[in-house]
Amino acid sequence: MPKGTTISEIRMVIGLEIHAQLATRTKLFCNCSSDYFRAPPNTHSCPVCLGMPGALPVLNERAVELALQAALALDCEIPRRCKFDRKNYFYPDLPKGYQISQYDQPLAQRGHFRPSGGEEVRIRRVHLEEDAGKLVHDERSGRSLVDLNRAGVPLIEIVTEPDLSSPEAAAQFMRELRQLLRYLGVSHAEMEKGELRCDANISLSVNGQRGTKTEIKNMNSFQAVEAALSAEARRQRRLLAVGEPIIQATLGWNPASGQVELQREKEEAEDYHYLPEPDLLPLEIAADRTERLRQAMPELPAQRRARWQREYRLPDYDIRLLSEERELADYFEQVVRCFPQPKEVSNWMMSELLRLLGEEPQRGLALAPDDFAQVLQMVSQGQLNRNKAKQVIAEAFKSDRTPQQIVAEQGWAQISDEATLMSLATEVLRENPEAAAGYRSGNAKVLGFLIGKLMAKTGGQANPKLATEVLRAALK
Ligand SMILES: [Zn+2]
Repeated sequence: MPKGTTISEIRMVIGLEIHAQLATRTKLFCNCSSDYFRAPPNTHSCPVCLGMPGALPVLNERAVELALQAALALDCEIPRRCKFDRKNYFYPDLPKGYQISQYDQPLAQRGHFRPSGGEEVRIRRVHLEEDAGKLVHDERSGRSLVDLNRAGVPLIEIVTEPDLSSPEAAAQFMRELRQLLRYLGVSHAEMEKGELRCDANISLSVNGQRGTKTEIKNMNSFQAVEAALSAEARRQRRLLAVGEPIIQATLGWNPASGQVELQREKEEAEDYHYLPEPDLLPLEIAADRTERLRQAMPELPAQRRARWQREYRLPDYDIRLLSEERELADYFEQVVRCFPQPKEVSNWMMSELLRLLGEEPQRGLALAPDDFAQVLQMVSQGQLNRNKAKQVIAEAFKSDRTPQQIVAEQGWAQISDEATLMSLATEVLRENPEAAAGYRSGNAKVLGFLIGKLMAKTGGQANPKLATEVLRAALK
């Protein structure tokens, strides 16, 4: 942009390239287990993923299935035919000297995804590819070692059009995409394990004219996406302000310094010498296969949120929290089926169940949904007071006992028997004659004191409403 141009409008233009590891048991082209996390180096490898001469790849059909599900959920077009290509580059973590990916005929293209409250983002393409290995830098020897456990693990790459206009929108897109992939069971998408990674390109459009873009590599948390893009936007603005050119470059995010760092400048797009993969046939995807998958698609997070709003009339906050993970959302619906008071279920789940899950996440949803509903039922029928109900839920969560067993064993059932309460109330009045006399001569305030005494006699288990009624009757 020439110096002296008046800047009337600056807009950020952001596109994302996301890699998600598919939740398959084995790798993309061999039978090695793809569950390599924390495995000793090079224990998940074979001649195929080590790139031995003569070893032939065999396509993992499950990976194709999962990739198709993701593509359909992103509203993509699925061509009848796609193919695999070799992307050639030299790096020690790539034993074959090329990566099997898809170049000019990807699995899917031209999709859409709209994060809640955000703008629609066009999906340029979704394709299948294999992951590379990992370099491990050994501090003691100062040498770099290669671990090929990850080499050949199936990934989908999702490329968006540059439709995102802020770092916050980019992070929100990632959050909801992650949720979608997890709902579908397509990917576990655990970012700390590297199962979901994000590259972004960003440029500033000035007065409607698109500027030079830079690329930020390997952001592996939502915060990193937001922070790195913000930092790069600030850097580009500073350059613009002083009339310096923005140079096309690849940048890395350094979370420690909070800065983007130059990895390499590129004069032009890199040339990977893509070649069609001669060892794999083009992949034919019949229309009826796509149709079957479309029919079998589970309810997606956005659809579920809309339905909950309609059917349960819950506040947005509750909906967002309880629909975050599919397992929790299913649980909520099962509880509501047994105890059809959605807001009450939501309150108890958000306060008690989520707290217990937070304390002992490894137990998972250990308490069966109908048992959880049973506790709420006992509360609503006056058989259990709210404090005891919390204890029952905690006990049942941590043990194999049902709420009914716990209530019976502990003798926590709320006392709702009028005769029992009446005889206890009579005792209370005999033991506190002054208070009783005070009430009878018009001091209504002592009633609270007497109720307290009655509750104490029952170990807090009297039905509070009934206790008050009985005491009033006894005082007459
Ligand atoms: Zn292998």
